[in-house]
Amino acid sequence: MAERVAIIGSGPAAWAAAIYTARANLEPLLFEGLATQENFDVGRPPLGQLMITTEVENYPGLPEGDMKTYLTTAIDPSLHYLLTERPDGEKMGVSGPDMMLLMKQQGLNYGTRTEGVDVTEVDFSVRPFKLTTSSGNTVEAHSVIVATGARANYLGLESEQRFKNLGVSACAVCDGALPRFRDKPLVVVGGGDSAMEEATYLSKFGSTVYIVHRRDEFRASKIMAQRALENPKIDVKWNSVIDEILGNDDDGVTAVRIRSTEDENRTEELAAAGYFAAIGHTPNTDFLGGQLETNAKGYVTWTVPFRTNTSVEGVFAAGDVADDYYRQAVTAAGSGCMAALDSERWLAAQGIE
Ligand code: NAP
Repeated sequence: MAERVAIIGSGPAAWAAAIYTARANLEPLLFEGLATQENFDVGRPPLGQLMITTEVENYPGLPEGDMKTYLTTAIDPSLHYLLTERPDGEKMGVSGPDMMLLMKQQGLNYGTRTEGVDVTEVDFSVRPFKLTTSSGNTVEAHSVIVATGARANYLGLESEQRFKNLGVSACAVCDGALPRFRDKPLVVVGGGDSAMEEATYLSKFGSTVYIVHRRDEFRASKIMAQRALENPKIDVKWNSVIDEILGNDDDGVTAVRIRSTEDENRTEELAAAGYFAAIGHTPNTDFLGGQLETNAKGYVTWTVPFRTNTSVEGVFAAGDVADDYYRQAVTAAGSGCMAALDSERWLAAQGIE
């Protein structure tokens, strides 16, 4: 029998959609993704990008405090091994993984069923829709919520991988205020609005923020570029690329070596406690095979203003896969709720109970 709602993805948008559709008695089936090293390495782990970040200090309703008792009583003991370890009584907020486990637990509490597989192919030309998974099974669903997120682009250096969460990040808003970056020199790579925004934000915490850009002019909007250029704490390294991120296991990132694009023999070592990649994101849409309309950057398009409808009736999109602008956990969760309500109302209008 066909599912009424299938949710593809397992970040905040997917779990918010699961909580809402489960509470509407739609018995959602959520495809959580495969827990393979490859999925982690490309920034697409089960439970989403928050699994590869540290503290979450900006999700409303979760101020810091002694969370240990709450987390261990709210979350099923079988999942405790995934909780961030903290000494007894330590006052801190939730970590990215803690928060995702809370969302998952909440979705499971209302009867969401999960499958730990990737959806590798969809067929939106038939009804019910057909989804093929990495285990080779085919599942039919009357409505689908696509919430597969996006992944930050990195340059692809081995050292980026080595120092992830040890000074390497692709989200200044998530990680910039961490103690390791306070009053230390920091490096941002990129020349778009994200790089300007990240550098400007980081200038509140770091001693100096270097923007390393491969050309001699920014791609960013004039106003954002100007703000960065006028900031006394920001120093731009024009016509330069990242050669290597340097550091050690104890301290994490300690320096970044850059190379001139004008003279490849010219390198410079910048002492730095942090390296922030701001060279764009890639939405996780390969499995869609081009069956949903996307914008020029490949993000799924919402075809009705302020609704999560896509170009295929009955398919809804939520979270970063449809958002190249806000990209926050709270906005993803909000749009997951919207997709759930849109899907529920659409199913009711079709007479699918
Ligand atoms: P983007 O505009 O695509 O800029 C990416 C930057 O990274 C470019 O400067 C590019 O250099 C550089 N880059 C890409 N690949 C690189 C590589 N392999 N090595 C070195 N540099 C590389 O991406 P974005 O800045 O994330 O912005 C995405 C969208 O979000 C934009 O539409 C932006 O306006 C919007 N946004 C808006 C705001 C805001 O208004 N508050 C904030 C953030 C983002 P080149 O310039 O040489 O190509």
